[in-house]
Formats: sequence, structure tokens, C-alpha cells
Amino acid sequence: MATNTNTNPHTLNGGMDLSLYRHVGEFYRGQSSEVADAFSGEHRLLQDMGVDFEYNVSFHANGGCAHCGAYFSYGSVFSHPEHGFVALGHACTQRWLEVDSSIALRQAKAKKRGQAAAKQAKIAAEFQATVDADPELADAANVEHYIITDIMNKGRRYGSISEKQRALVIKIATEAREAEAAKADEPPAAEVPDTDERITVRGKVLNTKWVYSQFGSTEKMLVEVTTDAGVYRLWGTIPSAIAEADRGDMVEFTATITRSHDDGSFGFFKRPTKPAILEPAAA
Ligand SMILES: [Zn+2]
Repeated sequence: MATNTNTNPHTLNGGMDLSLYRHVGEFYRGQSSEVADAFSGEHRLLQDMGVDFEYNVSFHANGGCAHCGAYFSYGSVFSHPEHGFVALGHACTQRWLEVDSSIALRQAKAKKRGQAAAKQAKIAAEFQATVDADPELADAANVEHYIITDIMNKGRRYGSISEKQRALVIKIATEAREAEAAKADEPPAAEVPDTDERITVRGKVLNTKWVYSQFGSTEKMLVEVTTDAGVYRLWGTIPSAIAEADRGDMVEFTATITRSHDDGSFGFFKRPTKPAILEPAAA
């Protein structure tokens, strides 16, 4: 398959018969990884046709275009009944071979796509340089948030962001970090005790709510119980003996507890006895 330096069959002098070359596909072998990415579809196509540049494609003895030996980045693979796959640079394929217009169009499209990708990569790199020179923005851009991602993607696409967008990225990042810090201060969720025994719990009333049903209306409360492992919450009817219980009060009662199937840190209390308000909410 390798070409012979003395008699190159792909030159006119070497007996090149232009009518025997059939176009197989397009490829790129230049330095730009972005252009190579843009050509990935073309390269896969060649692979599917059995083209393997390491083993079965003839280049010129010097590694260039099989016909003229010139170095090229954009090339085409042709198949030849005797010589198998042959690689030619675009200049030659268009000059020597009667490539039909659809192939010429495909070459042009692939090249254009590659060049657009390279240009886009350059714009993105320039934007990244301005971000790197702006520590406040660079720092904020590290925060994961869909608006930040969106604005930074636009920057990479168009090369810059507005002063207003920059301010927004920094504001969102600051808020997101504050929210994260506040969350870190919250006690961890603890499991609601899993027992059939009636147990005594002591907790803080987070809120109360009237619930209406066909059996009448009852006032319920959400109680947050703090344990060494963290906090869990219980929901149930306010015992009539402490009917005045309200948000913020510390209460105690003995009841049957059932853990929720969906959330282990949430449960229900039933048939509370010995209720007491230990400590009313600070006025
Ligand atoms: Zn050539």
C-alpha cells in the first residue's frame, strides 16, 4: 500500500488515471482540536468505510498529498481499484480530479464548519482571558447556578458580557454562598424513633393549623424535636389540655409515634397524654 518514491502512481507522469478515483470522504489533520472535533462526523464515516490512516491509506512518500506531496490540513480520501485508499489535499482534488459538485460542496461545508469552530474557540479563549484578569468574576463563576452558567456560556460564545451581567453573576454567587453557609448551620436531620412503645417527646412548636374534615375541625401542630443526633419533626392533633399551644412554645407529651415512609425525619404522633407547655414562646 505504501507509495514508491521512484514511481508515484498518483502523479500524471506516474500514469495517474483520474477516472479511476472514487471519492470516499473528508478529513482534517491540522493542529486545531476544535476543527478536529468539527470533523468527528466525517472521521467516523471514513472509519465505517474501513479507512485506517495508520495502515491502509497512501500518502506521498513525504507524508503530504499523494499527488503533489504538498503538506495539507484539509484532505479527501479516494479509493483506487489497484492502490486502495489514497489521500489527497483539497487543492489537488479540486484541480486534478473531476470531483462532482456535491463533493466540492461537502468539502467546503466541512472546512467552513471547522473554521467556524476554530474561530469560536478563539473567541472563548479571549473571553476566558478577561475572566482570568477579573478575580472577583472568576471566583463567582465557579459557583454552580444555572443563571451563572448561562451568562458565562454567552460570554464564551460572544466574547464578552455586559457590566450588568457581570454584577448579576457576582450577586448570585454571593447569595448562593450565603444560603449554603446558612444551610450548613442547620442541625442535621435525625430519624424519628421507630418504636411501638409510647414515648415522651419534648419539642418546639414550629406552627399550628386548623384541619377540617367530615368529623369536625381539629387544630394540629408541627413539633420539632432536638436530639443528640439532630432534629426530627412530628405532626399531630394538639391535646385539648394545651389548646393554647402556639408557635415557638416548648411542649412535652407522651404518644405513639409513626415514622413517615417518605421522610425518615418526619412522623406523626397519636393519642398524646400528659401534655404540658414547658416554656411559652418569648413574647
Ligand atoms: Zn496535492
